[in-house]
Amino acid sequence: MLEPADPQEAKDFIKLAFEISEKFDTPVFFRTTTRVAHSKSVVYLNEPQIPEDRTRLVHHAEKYVMVPINARIRRVEVEKRQEALKKFVENFPENKMEINNPEVGIITAGMPYNYSKEVFPDFSYLKLGMVYPLPAKLIHEFAARVKKIYVIEELDPYLEEQIKAMGIEVTGKDIFPYTNEFDPGIVKNAINSDISGTVSPYQENLAHRPPNLCPGCPHRGLFYALKKSKAYVHGDIGCYTLSYLKPLEGLHSCICMGASIGMAHGMSKALKEKGKGKVVGVIGDSTFLHSGITSLLNMAYNNSDALIIILDNSTTAMTGMQEHPGTGYTLMGKEAKKVNLNVLVSALGIENIRVINPYNIKEAQIAIKDELASSGPSVIISQGPCVLFKRANLKPVSALKIDADKCEGCKTCLTLNCPPIAWKEGVTKEGSKRKGIAVIDETFCNGCGLCAQVCKFGAIS
Ligand code: SF4
Ligand code: SF4
Repeated sequence: MLEPADPQEAKDFIKLAFEISEKFDTPVFFRTTTRVAHSKSVVYLNEPQIPEDRTRLVHHAEKYVMVPINARIRRVEVEKRQEALKKFVENFPENKMEINNPEVGIITAGMPYNYSKEVFPDFSYLKLGMVYPLPAKLIHEFAARVKKIYVIEELDPYLEEQIKAMGIEVTGKDIFPYTNEFDPGIVKNAINSDISGTVSPYQENLAHRPPNLCPGCPHRGLFYALKKSKAYVHGDIGCYTLSYLKPLEGLHSCICMGASIGMAHGMSKALKEKGKGKVVGVIGDSTFLHSGITSLLNMAYNNSDALIIILDNSTTAMTGMQEHPGTGYTLMGKEAKKVNLNVLVSALGIENIRVINPYNIKEAQIAIKDELASSGPSVIISQGPCVLFKRANLKPVSALKIDADKCEGCKTCLTLNCPPIAWKEGVTKEGSKRKGIAVIDETFCNGCGLCAQVCKFGAIS
């Protein structure tokens, strides 16, 4: 298992991972944490190398068919490979020892190396690029050259336990938290408090900004309508998961990719016989094609009483607009067969299918109400392309405005949680009880029209 600490290593280690995989005939794990994945920096490239084409068909069933008789033989091979890797890792160049101040040595891997180096540049370091198997000899050598060792790792004490099992005394989770990501402040305070008992309060200067759906997002109208239905909603993985936050409160559970349909199915089975109503599952088009189809087939086959809403925004928005089998293009941008969701859902055995426009709140509300009242499984396909999706070629629409004379300050438009809509306290009006008005930041609004639909006073145009 390799663990890069920054974008340059994320690129370089991939090459090493393939080389190790080839050399030792082994799968290699490539462990990236959130902070590495969300980092940006200049990355230097090498000359691309075209590998020799050794593609060929190999008939080797003893290796590739893991029935018990073959698995027993392969297990012996795994042990041999493990021994070879243990030797290899001792000289692996990405396990780097830096001896500076010998009073304190830090053993770490991945992003915590950067945090530690930022606040304690003069300490000695053993930065591990390969975290499994561990270089036992190198770790002993490092331990012999420094007085006190800290192991800095996020979450569970994997390195710490392995190193302690080698008979080396280290300090880890005694002073570092088990929870959350680290940052330079956490590392600094933990070590300072251990060495000298001094802790400087960690200053967080950034304003809190909860994640939110984009202005003009097609999911906003759908979740606004869904909330009005008061249904229990199982969510899935995608931008729309953000709708769980107040005030939309669009979903009530979210476990893992593709789980919403199975969860809705299970809950519907538990509730149906007790007459406790239909539950809802929501899933994006990309996630549905990735891992929702089999669950929907199961729902149809077992006559579930759930409503599934496929949030079809024509792309895989959350992770960066990747193509999928419903977009008509491959990941390499070539034209491809485009799945027709309506036909697919029908082929799986669902009879109640509706396609709706989520920018029309009334239409969405009626469809949800009707399908919740019907018995048996049903599917609503909520079709509206992601507002950031370039190929959708959405025509620019002027921003909307709130008429300060007409606004009664009821705050209904704020319940859409659209980023451009803000509250201005203290703008009163003669003959009105209002305590303030809503305002729209025109530089931010994309004119989707949802807020105008919910304002009962016709103040938004
Ligand atoms: S819904 Fe209309 S009246 Fe109510 S705060 Fe918003 S703009 Fe004002
Ligand atoms: S029209 Fe209203 S709901 Fe749509 S983006 Fe603008 S402020 Fe938001």
